[in-house]
Amino acid sequence: MQIYHIPWIYTPVRTVLAIWHQLTKTEIIELTKGSVMMRERSRVEDTIYAMQKAGPGSLQVISDFDMTLTRFAHKGKRLPTTHNILNNRLLINEDSTKKMKELLNTYYPIEIDPSLSREEKLPYMVTWWTEVHELLIQQRIRKDMLAQVVRESSAMLREGYRVFFDCLAEHRVPLLIFSAGVGDVLEEVIRQNDVFHPNLHIISNYMDFDHTGVLQAFKGQLIHSYNKRDVALSHATALRELHGRPNVLLLGDSLGDLNMAEGVSEAQNILTVGFLNDQVEERKESYINSFDIVLLKDETMDIPNVILRHIVSPEMASKVQRKK
Ligand SMILES: [Mg+2]
Repeated sequence: MQIYHIPWIYTPVRTVLAIWHQLTKTEIIELTKGSVMMRERSRVEDTIYAMQKAGPGSLQVISDFDMTLTRFAHKGKRLPTTHNILNNRLLINEDSTKKMKELLNTYYPIEIDPSLSREEKLPYMVTWWTEVHELLIQQRIRKDMLAQVVRESSAMLREGYRVFFDCLAEHRVPLLIFSAGVGDVLEEVIRQNDVFHPNLHIISNYMDFDHTGVLQAFKGQLIHSYNKRDVALSHATALRELHGRPNVLLLGDSLGDLNMAEGVSEAQNILTVGFLNDQVEERKESYINSFDIVLLKDETMDIPNVILRHIVSPEMASKVQRKK
């Protein structure tokens, strides 16, 4: 038709198409909640749509464990990390409990201090982890007691955890748990919550027991909260199942967790979600500058679950949220 040869018609047509695209684009309503902070909302949504387009076959999830998959607090009470779960009289004596507490009081403020750089924190973290592990080894912890201390602990996975773990397993999306905690303990927490699925991969500090089942050392390279970059790079080639999955959803609660995706080769889209559990006002700015999405004192998996729903079953997600 003659009309297509008139150049001025293209611009209005293109504008109409752009408006149509904006109108029909789904909006992720849950991201408008007051506890969700984003530096750039449109970038977050565009990344989710790009991941949706590529589908679950291109996705991998990399998550920290302590205070990311587990709750930070419940009914106003702090909940334990995997190291703190071991702080049970069945395993360690009063004197060691006291020493571990002193170490926590000395080094935790350094770990979360926003005025210190990663390099400045590094030596303190190595000292903290090494001393705690030394204490645990001295206490001759027994492997056969681990299940019981996990049962007796107040540790809880975040609300909505079952949807998260089951959804990833159902869609065969690998979940790499990358933890500076204690691997044997975190495995037990996951097992006792019935979500230890075959799509799980774990990188953590594992205990080395002697032939009688008594702790004698920790295996391999020490992982603390600020060397996840080096550890990620050294494991990169071993995690074959994660190859060919260029889209990454990364979950963490510490700025050091942002380096967990460092070993992903040819990453295309990386969406980072940070749980800001503690010292919210002091750390808000640095978190918003570092993570794509920051969740303020949110003890649930709601936002990661919403993101996953958009990626694995876009029809279902858009049906309820299509912009009117
Ligand atoms: Mg953590």
